[in-house]
Amino acid sequence: MCGIIGYIGGKQAAPVLIDGLKRMEYRGYDSAGIALINDDGKVDLRKRKGRVSVMASEIEADRFPAHMGIGHTRWATHGGVTDANAHPHTSSCGRFIMVHNGIIENYENMRSFLAGKGYTFSSETDSEALVNLISYHYDERTVDGAADRFMESVRKALLHVEGTYGIAVISPLYPNEIIVARKGSPLLIGIGNGERLVASDVSGFAGRAQNVIYLEDGQLACVKKDFCDIITNGKQEVECVIKEIDWELETAELGSYRHFMQKEIFEQRKAIENAIRGRISDDMSTAILSGLNMSANELRQIDRILFCACGTAWHACLVAEYLIEKYARIPVEVEYASEFRYSNPPLDKNTLVFVISQSGETIDTLEALREAKRKGFKTLAITNVVGSTIARESDGGLYQYSGKEVGVASTKAFTSQIVICLLIALYFGRMRDLSFSDGREIVEAIKSLPDLIDETLKQAPKVEQIAKKYAKYPDFLFLGRLEEYPIALEGALKLKEISYIHAEGYPAAEMKHGPIALVCPECPTVIFANSGEIFHKVISNAKEIGARNGPVIMITDSPESIDEGLADDIIAIPKSHSSVRTVLSTIPIQMLAYYIAVARGCDVDKPRNLAKSVTVE
Ligand code: GLU
Repeated sequence: MCGIIGYIGGKQAAPVLIDGLKRMEYRGYDSAGIALINDDGKVDLRKRKGRVSVMASEIEADRFPAHMGIGHTRWATHGGVTDANAHPHTSSCGRFIMVHNGIIENYENMRSFLAGKGYTFSSETDSEALVNLISYHYDERTVDGAADRFMESVRKALLHVEGTYGIAVISPLYPNEIIVARKGSPLLIGIGNGERLVASDVSGFAGRAQNVIYLEDGQLACVKKDFCDIITNGKQEVECVIKEIDWELETAELGSYRHFMQKEIFEQRKAIENAIRGRISDDMSTAILSGLNMSANELRQIDRILFCACGTAWHACLVAEYLIEKYARIPVEVEYASEFRYSNPPLDKNTLVFVISQSGETIDTLEALREAKRKGFKTLAITNVVGSTIARESDGGLYQYSGKEVGVASTKAFTSQIVICLLIALYFGRMRDLSFSDGREIVEAIKSLPDLIDETLKQAPKVEQIAKKYAKYPDFLFLGRLEEYPIALEGALKLKEISYIHAEGYPAAEMKHGPIALVCPECPTVIFANSGEIFHKVISNAKEIGARNGPVIMITDSPESIDEGLADDIIAIPKSHSSVRTVLSTIPIQMLAYYIAVARGCDVDKPRNLAKSVTVE
């Protein structure tokens, strides 16, 4: 959450900062601000609640001559969404200016300590305490040496922080440097020609840098226009590891689509092709998953798998549970990452821990990974962002290669996570009891997916019509059984996220044990009724809803078997092998949520209160 940007070089900084903020706005969009230091040391600071465009429209970025500065888009944690609480924050003496991502948990103690020393505050944020603490260390000369007094003051202040931070700090006393540091929140340094950028995501560099340095937790850097020094919080020097940026992976343009979410729904064919590419064995009976960094022998020792994630990725874990237990017969447990971290569940010694996070920066998931590592477990990750913290810190894993996902509500990343979990189920299954021919059948099914996705997407106009019909309804139920139960949860989540309609997902049969009380003409139920052993059971559930005058929207691969009058609306999906059906079942619920949100006039790509990359606990 929150986008941080910084620039130092030969160009005018303000347009670069605003462009970077717009590209990172998916990370937080409560308010935005920039601070610039001119060559003569004069400071220009502008900040406003609302979108980056609000702040940008009030200033003429080209007017500012400064060649260095920092910027921020906020996702408020402490203090309301106001101009005063927007970042950057300035120390009460005016000499230190900072943007912050994360939470300073002990900010109240800091504030009272500083207030006792005469420091004053003009916002309600936790962040303002930290910038004043930096000022305190500077003024009190608790640091030795003159040359790096600025960086040392930041370092000393950070030693007192409980919580998480990605920060960028500037000072008119030091117009040639930006100090950055991280603990828990991402911070990257982009290397251009005679210029340096800092950002919480490579997309902030907007093609201006070809190379990047990923700062690690507990590191600080002094960034100048043509070099940077990195040290640890403990003052050890750190060697800069420079990586090349793959701009093809990082670029996302809207093209002819109206919203990124719509574009990303329609990109699912490509995302799935990318997830599969190079991962099927020559004999077409199993998967090749070299990224796991574990030998077949090591993997055969696994007795249990634990999956941890949050939100949509957590639903992908539930599908993984179903697929791996079915095909590999390995018991799987799924935990919310945020719960796992603190619940300290007993784990068997031969447990393998998987985490899933689209951004690879989700703090709860990252901390669950770290906790599992501390306990000595092998940790593997499924992420979409190459070089993300989770990707770097896990023992191995699989990249999704879905392409950049900009829409806050995840779509293509979710279905690609499901396909990767199916590849894992296939691979682990083939090491155990899954026969060669069963393996080939699943591979065939996986390979058929791109075409089946295209066919499913053809339902868009129909789904749009249905969406318009139900857009004003206040509550929705989503019901599915077995592997479609997680898709029912995902359907409810998608609808809540972007249309603000109350929705709940349940296993279809569970409906009778409580949720049926909600059924009425104003509460439509979306129900998955696909061919297979439980088809008739789900049909009975749909009848029970119809008998209580609840509208039924049925998603089915067998429309020909649905009796007249059973469903008010039917969305047909193509017939497919059961191993891949969740991917196809997902697409209608994504489209339904999307078109309902559009019909309600909601801001689809930037829904209220949310942000794409959740880097606060
Ligand atoms: N905790 C800080 C605030 O509320 C930073 C939030 C963020 O990461 O945007 O202002």
